[in-house]
Amino acid sequence: MEISFHGAAGGTVTGSCHLVQVAGKRILIDCGLFQGGRALAEENASDPGFDPRTIDYLLLTHAHLDHCGRIPLLVKKGFRGEIITTAATRDLAKLVLIDSAGLQVEDAKHHARHLRPGQPAPEPLYDVPDVLDAMELFGRSAWYLQPIDVCPGVRATFGNAAHILGSAWILLELEENGTKRRVVFSGDLGDREKPLLLPLTQAPECDVVVMESTYGDRNHKPLAPSIEELKHVIQQTLARGGNVVIPTFALERAQDLLYYLGGMIDAGDVPRHMPVYLDSPMAISATGVFRRHPECFRSELRDMLDHGKDPFALPGLRFTRDTEESRAINEIHGGAVIMAGSGMATGGRILHHLQRNLPNGKASIVFVGYAGAGTMARRIIDGAKHVHLFGEDVPVAAAIHTIGGFSAHADHSELLEWHAGSGKPACTFLVHGEEGSANVLAADLAQRGLRAVQPAMHQAYRLDGEIAAVGA
Ligand code: ZN
Repeated sequence: MEISFHGAAGGTVTGSCHLVQVAGKRILIDCGLFQGGRALAEENASDPGFDPRTIDYLLLTHAHLDHCGRIPLLVKKGFRGEIITTAATRDLAKLVLIDSAGLQVEDAKHHARHLRPGQPAPEPLYDVPDVLDAMELFGRSAWYLQPIDVCPGVRATFGNAAHILGSAWILLELEENGTKRRVVFSGDLGDREKPLLLPLTQAPECDVVVMESTYGDRNHKPLAPSIEELKHVIQQTLARGGNVVIPTFALERAQDLLYYLGGMIDAGDVPRHMPVYLDSPMAISATGVFRRHPECFRSELRDMLDHGKDPFALPGLRFTRDTEESRAINEIHGGAVIMAGSGMATGGRILHHLQRNLPNGKASIVFVGYAGAGTMARRIIDGAKHVHLFGEDVPVAAAIHTIGGFSAHADHSELLEWHAGSGKPACTFLVHGEEGSANVLAADLAQRGLRAVQPAMHQAYRLDGEIAAVGA
């Protein structure tokens, strides 16, 4: 019985991929894309640390690219096992992977234009047909707290992680030669104030925890004051005749925002027919997937749906899927809320809206998510007076706001609260976090008399007997 870590290990956050070997079977939990920078991108194409042809099952926690993004690549390299996840995650993963395939193909074309003579043309990591091949391998659907007998010696239970639609933590009950072990994988955990999703379920009692540590070193601002702040920004901006531009992630954040805006409209805080543009094909499609999976919603929201009220339909909402419609938004100089991706303004349609609205002193730009170092979002938040967009020097005259309470991730105290459900596990592996963040959590667990380990990339540990590094 063994576990090994092939992504989101050794202080990295992306590329989640863990391998369990038990009773002659090999089971992956997630297989995500490494994201951020060239070196990590090359990591995606390199040896994953195991032979994909030998993997029997892949259990998927949720549809974010850093958890599912290498699945088509695995299939290309010979993986033919069964993929098990929730129905909502399967539908979102299809969307996310097709979008990713498009970007991979674009990326390969871009590099092909900068080749030296004689250099071979680069292949995309995968394309849309590869994604469709991968979708064929999605088998049984999981639902929260209903165990699935994966194969002899392995039973899996998915629990609600309240991170994005369909997201789950996964408990594996393993048995080999009379030895039993219970191992839980957190996937990514959400916070306790998710507006749309069923509330987070605590970790089950177990022997081993594999836990994310993204925000292990900090606590978030509460949600209610953040919604209030957003409301004030919208009211003030509309009053002075500008647009409110919100760079946003397509999954969960965009739908959360639509729901908050709906609440403001119902309360009479903002004009009923205020034009709201969701200018992101991906976010539009994701909203469709949300509508198809009401089983994941909180009871208040299901009640709304039962009474014929669509939580994502605002009177002034316009979905702009094609580029013509998107361009038409450029002609709107004030009075609208415009949401578009990417969330960190590293690319996508948001760049056009920034080009138009940044120089306008009446406009507001509202950042509602994490802004990584070196991104356009970070430069604007840090107070740049000018930014470079489409070969143009764009002055920053708009009001810049950052509202911090909308995170999709559990914070320090929420992670520990979730972990407390596991009882007294023999070992907690901390993954999916930068070193500093994991260190803080490790210290907290140590204070509770619990052993915490930050595994290195590709490091394996025995799960039977005393939990110890293999080959150490
Ligand atoms: Zn995630």
